[in-house]
Amino acid sequence: MSLAVRILGRNGSLQERASSNTSLLLSTPSHSVLVDCSGNLQEAVHDPGLAAVVITHEHIDHVYGFPSLIHQLWLSGRMEPLKVYAPETALGIVQKLIDAFSLLSKKGMFPIELCPADAFSAGDINITPFRTDHTGDSLGLIAEADGKRVVYTSDTRPIASVMKEMSSPDILITEASGDSSAEEILIKKGHQSSKDAAELAVRLAAKRLLLVHLPDSEDERRTILNEASMVFPESGIPEPLEVFMI
Ligand SMILES: [Zn+2]
Repeated sequence: MSLAVRILGRNGSLQERASSNTSLLLSTPSHSVLVDCSGNLQEAVHDPGLAAVVITHEHIDHVYGFPSLIHQLWLSGRMEPLKVYAPETALGIVQKLIDAFSLLSKKGMFPIELCPADAFSAGDINITPFRTDHTGDSLGLIAEADGKRVVYTSDTRPIASVMKEMSSPDILITEASGDSSAEEILIKKGHQSSKDAAELAVRLAAKRLLLVHLPDSEDERRTILNEASMVFPESGIPEPLEVFMI
């Protein structure tokens, strides 16, 4: 069995033609979990295994696609319930989006179950959330299936203490909103640099690092990748819709 990581978007708050904001789809042959909802949702909408959605925090670039996801799933004839896991603040936003578009009053709407962000299993995918240092109510997650492990921090400042369950991931996906020359500003805004991202990969003994939540400038992304690669050679920037099989 394999665990597939599909990068639906890799950008930070600013989109570009080539990429939406950061979100990902984690899939085994039978089940999928969508992590954050931005603009590129077709892969999730047409995935028959989609069992759950995780919203990592309440910021707009992580949640704005949610009502459209529900609408598209409904139009596509979904009948099965969908579980939505999020920290309390983000769950409040999700509830408001559901209400704003009267999604539950649509004829034949499938059940939407809002759940606190505890550990859960979606079929053969086990998700363990962990607190991050970003909004005060933000989280990252560890996804495991058949001995494979992915750690996704979503947006965060450098994480001071890591859980032992995060160690030795096959893939670490973490943000690099800039390079270390902008470190002070990044940290003030709740983010981290490419150097911080690479140092986390070293601390966790990750096999591979994917940098996300990136600026919309190719030059800046090149600097970010160069800086990360100096610290952690197995660093990469994913292409939108690129799939990583582990
Ligand atoms: Zn954020």
